[in-house]
Order: sequence, then C-alpha cells, then structure tokens
Amino acid sequence: MEKIVPNRLDRGFFKYQKEFEDKAIEVLRSGWYILGKEVEAFEEEFAAYVGTKYSVGVGNGLDALYLAFRALGIGEGDEVLVQGNTYIASVMGITMNGATPIFIEPDEYFNIDASKLEEKITDKTKAILVVHLYGQASNMGPVVDVCKKHNLKLVEDCAQGHGAKFNGKSVGSFGDIGCFSFYPSKNLGAFGDGGAITTDSKEIADTIKMLRNYGSEKRYHNKVVGVNSRLDEMQAGLLRVRLKHMSELEQEKREICERYLAEIHNNLIKLPETREGATHIWHQFVIRCDSRDKLKDYLEEKGIGTIIHYPIPPHLSEAYAYLGNKKGALPITEEYAETVLSIPLYNGMTSEEQGRVIDALNNYRG
Ligand SMILES: *Cc1c(COP(=O)(O)O)cnc(C)c1O
Repeated sequence: MEKIVPNRLDRGFFKYQKEFEDKAIEVLRSGWYILGKEVEAFEEEFAAYVGTKYSVGVGNGLDALYLAFRALGIGEGDEVLVQGNTYIASVMGITMNGATPIFIEPDEYFNIDASKLEEKITDKTKAILVVHLYGQASNMGPVVDVCKKHNLKLVEDCAQGHGAKFNGKSVGSFGDIGCFSFYPSKNLGAFGDGGAITTDSKEIADTIKMLRNYGSEKRYHNKVVGVNSRLDEMQAGLLRVRLKHMSELEQEKREICERYLAEIHNNLIKLPETREGATHIWHQFVIRCDSRDKLKDYLEEKGIGTIIHYPIPPHLSEAYAYLGNKKGALPITEEYAETVLSIPLYNGMTSEEQGRVIDALNNYRG
C-alpha cells in the first residue's frame, strides 16, 4: 500500500494545473520579474482578502515578522510578549531586532492565553505577538483590550492562519501589522518562498516598502540601511491564482477535518477543539496523546507519516539558551511539545486515505 505522507503539494498544483501553468508562462514572457504588476495586483487583492487597507509583499514569513517589529521601532531593551508554543520564526522576528521575547503559556486551543498577559507586562513591554497557531484564530477580544489598556503594539503572526476569523473579522486585520508566510505548505502557498505584511497604516506600509528594497523609495536614494526582501513576480502571479480558489480550498480541508472529528474515537487520543467565535482554517490537524512517540511509531509502521509541531519549544532551543530559560519554565508549552501530533492533511486527500488514517487511529491501543 502506498504510504500516506503528512502533507503533499502536488495534488494542490494539479487541481489548478492549467491556470498555474498559464500564469507562469505569462510571467516568463513578460520580461519583468521583480516588483512589477503581479506584485502590485497581488498586494491589492490580498489586502482585500484580509480586510486591511494595505498589504506589502516581502521575501518570506520570517522577514515579514522582522520588518514588522523594525517598522514599529521595537528593538534593544524592549520586551515583546509571545506564546511559548510557536514555530521558532515568530521568536526570531523579535530577537533579530534586538528585542527580548517574554513567553506566555498557551490556552487549550494552542493559542496565547490572554488571561496570562497582564501579569507579564513591565515598563519595557512594547508589543504583543499573537500566533494563530495551526490555523485557528486566537482569542482576539481580550488580546486587543490588553493592548489598548497598556498602550502596546499588536503584531499578528498569521503564517498558519490565512483566512481565519475571530468574530467575523479576519486575522491580520486586528493589530498594527499582520505577518504572513506563503511557504509552499501554508494554506495559501507559493511555489517557493514568499511573505507579506498587512496593515491599515499608510506610514507602516510605506516604511516596509522602503525597508524591503534596500531602504530606498526612489532608486539609488537610500534613506536607511534596509534589506533585500521582495516577493517576486512569479510567486505573486501564482499566488493570485491560488488566492482566487481559497474558499474552495478551505472548504475541502474543513470537510476532511470534520470527518476526522466525527470518526476518530479513541480514549487515548484528544481531538482539537475550536473556540466559540473563532474559525479554524486547518493548517494542521493536531491531536494529543500521552504516549505520542509510541503512537507516531505505530502509525509509521502502518504506512502513515505524521509530524510534530513542534518537538522543542523556542525557550528550550539551543538558539535561545542565552535567554536562560530552564525546562519546567513553561509547563503547558512543554507538555504540548511532548504530546502533540499532526496527522496527514492536505488538499486533494482522498476518502480512502482518510479512512486508513481513521482506522489506524481507532485501532491504537497504546
Ligand atoms: C512558516 C511560519 C513562519 C515563517 O515563515 P517562512 O516563510 O518560512 O519564513 C513564521 N511563523 C509561523 C507560525 C510559521 O508557521
């Protein structure tokens, strides 16, 4: 039997093969490959999709985060509150600017626990970074309230949350800046690296446009030491094709996950829950199991691949040893790292493939 992999991108390509290929040829033949009409059109369409006034394409999701904090003037001596259980890039966006991440424990939906924010605020705190992890919108009501009350900037890491909503409003439109990745495996994935920021502020949009292009607004007139971080014409063109189909892609994933929720029955496995008022766009379907490593091996033997998002939380990673966090510092974050498992999920997953995953999970005896 063919192995079921955790994620596969070929199916998502073949679904719209002709449209992708036509667009690729159009861009190739245009003779213009960086900062042209595809990027401009994508920025406009993506801002409309998120519901912000502006969007600016950048090289990848990490750059979106780095440039967001830089544009907000957050750096050395400043603290940013961020959830402990996130992909390390969220934290790197903070530390690349010289600022210090202060880790907050997650709630039962794997997102930042808004009730634990205020106790960590000091006079150095400048911003909160929420991560809409696995595709579920965070608890934005209380997060926005805390930011207003303490005059903090709000940045959203939406790299896993394209199109997710909290009380009907899209992630990436709550804060000062929303940061998106279009890494191929994300829900809105490119065919290479890509990223974008979203904002309602013209000033922030202009600053990031300048920073992404060597700190210049006008060619060879460099105002600051910027970076080279541009979304290219090919990726922007291909992203425009995928963006048109987002609601159908989202619906397909939703149906797969509804079947998982309805048909996986095993006391050893805890299924993911969705907060009232939040939507989940299912970037990952993450289950929890006390004997996670054993379950992972068992599934592997049955020809089913899985991934752990993420086995080492940033505060315990070697890269952040200098922050001095010890094991036990974030018990909930650490427990998640030991028990979470992402099961196969991708656009184009067949009913037979899902059935095999469900049967294997239901037959697991620990
Ligand atoms: C993927 C991801 C990023 C980084 O995006 P890249 O485009 O790979 O740089 C940042 N944060 C989260 C939560 C992610 O999942």
